[in-house]
Amino acid sequence: MGYLSKSKYCSLWQCPKIAWLRQNKPEAATIDDMLQARFEAGNMVADLAMGLFGDYTEVTVCDGDRLDLKQMIYNTSAEMDKGTDNICEASFSYNGLYCAVDILRKNGDGWAIYEVKSSTMHKKDDGTYEDDREIYIADISYQKYVLEHCGIKVTGTYLVYLNGDYIYDGNLDLSKLFIISDVAEEIDQEILRIEPNLRIAEQVLASDNEPDIDLDVHCKKPYECSFWKYCSRHIPAESVFNIYRLEMSKKIEYYRNGWVTYRELLDNAPIKNEKQLRQIEFALEDKGTYVNRTEIASFLNTLSYPLYFLDFETIQPVIPEFTGTRPYAQIPFQYSLHYIEHEGGELKHKEFLAESGTDPRRTIAESLCKDIPMNVCVTAYNKAFECTRIKELAETFPDLADHLLNIRGNIIDLLVPFQSGWYYNRTMGGSFSIKSVLPALFPDDPSLDYHNLEGVHHGGEAMTLFPRIKDMPPEEQKTARNNLLAYCKLDTYAMVKVWEELVRAAQGSIC
Ligand code: SF4
Repeated sequence: MGYLSKSKYCSLWQCPKIAWLRQNKPEAATIDDMLQARFEAGNMVADLAMGLFGDYTEVTVCDGDRLDLKQMIYNTSAEMDKGTDNICEASFSYNGLYCAVDILRKNGDGWAIYEVKSSTMHKKDDGTYEDDREIYIADISYQKYVLEHCGIKVTGTYLVYLNGDYIYDGNLDLSKLFIISDVAEEIDQEILRIEPNLRIAEQVLASDNEPDIDLDVHCKKPYECSFWKYCSRHIPAESVFNIYRLEMSKKIEYYRNGWVTYRELLDNAPIKNEKQLRQIEFALEDKGTYVNRTEIASFLNTLSYPLYFLDFETIQPVIPEFTGTRPYAQIPFQYSLHYIEHEGGELKHKEFLAESGTDPRRTIAESLCKDIPMNVCVTAYNKAFECTRIKELAETFPDLADHLLNIRGNIIDLLVPFQSGWYYNRTMGGSFSIKSVLPALFPDDPSLDYHNLEGVHHGGEAMTLFPRIKDMPPEEQKTARNNLLAYCKLDTYAMVKVWEELVRAAQGSIC
């Protein structure tokens, strides 16, 4: 069976089926861009945190593309004997259990464990944490258990995470970038669960049979499990799990009651929400398109010419790279802008794409002020995102603030008619994102199909591609930039088409 690593232990802790599937059916996992980005962020933060206490020795040894665990364990022991203060990836094994400690630090007459996470660990109003803190505690408890059984005196257990309020001033200060939290008390409680959990682990991982564990709230908390698609393969496409804004705990409650299909939900579940009911009824009765002409017309009356359609793309550096920004700040690097100057006028287009590897904020702010005059009507789809980015630019560049805040103040949200339920058809499936609304409105138009784009098909791909462009050869750079431009341009062209559809709906051409 090989070693039981701490990540395998933690997956067992979260849901034993994850560990079994990773061992026996790894191909069933869906590794999407977001999951990949989280892996990469974790590695980047862990590498940076190695220098948190000054000089350190890293004991990582590779044998081909695998870690040489035996050598790492040997090197750790040698460094400890030498009296090295900070050992990174310090490795231990006991009775088939293996762990690598992010930072093992000499502490009094023993050693302290520092576990580094790329999360900012925000505490919610109810005192719980947004991120997977409970798993982190399980992770550190497992490490402490292994070390103590290797005869190491553990005199401290700490969780190291990113300080979400840290503002970069041009010099990265690791002592302020990271927050160190003493978790000894939580570990004392959790460590009592290690041996019972290990007994479960032994049974689960030795078995040829997939654990009989059904869908539950933990499948989506705090992130969607990478095996969700596999474990939910018996669920129909239109089911309780697609219902608009229904909490996961309610979905699971209805699922356990056997109310899975829309029919079962309509006949049994106490659903009162108008939009949820419309989603179910339109699907069951194939009602075509619902249009509230009066509301749509009054929404369209709030728009005026010249009419602009704006969309941003952003990067989100885990470690702040630009002065005045925090970890995970959203930095706009690109926009597309379609506009029509007067009723019946020609559709025109402008765009901006920063140079990869530079701070894009000043140039994008100046370009916005050049391309969008003051006091004009601007639309965005889900405007909170664009408005927040523009407000941040205005705070960063006070000399441009008047113009930027004027643009922000004139943004009208094209999402409103859909989110308000004034326009609905079953193909939207209860989602009002532009990526759901567009194919529902224009199912047969290949020019509006994101799948037909080259290289970039959604914001996540744009976000990962842009920072990489600076390291590409010139020809690849050109292709990548063209792909980014085409993607963002489609976003605002889609908005134009959606607006045209709303105009037709208000005129009564759609019913
Ligand atoms: S989807 Fe849910 S049941 Fe399946 S492995 Fe993941 S957490 Fe476990």
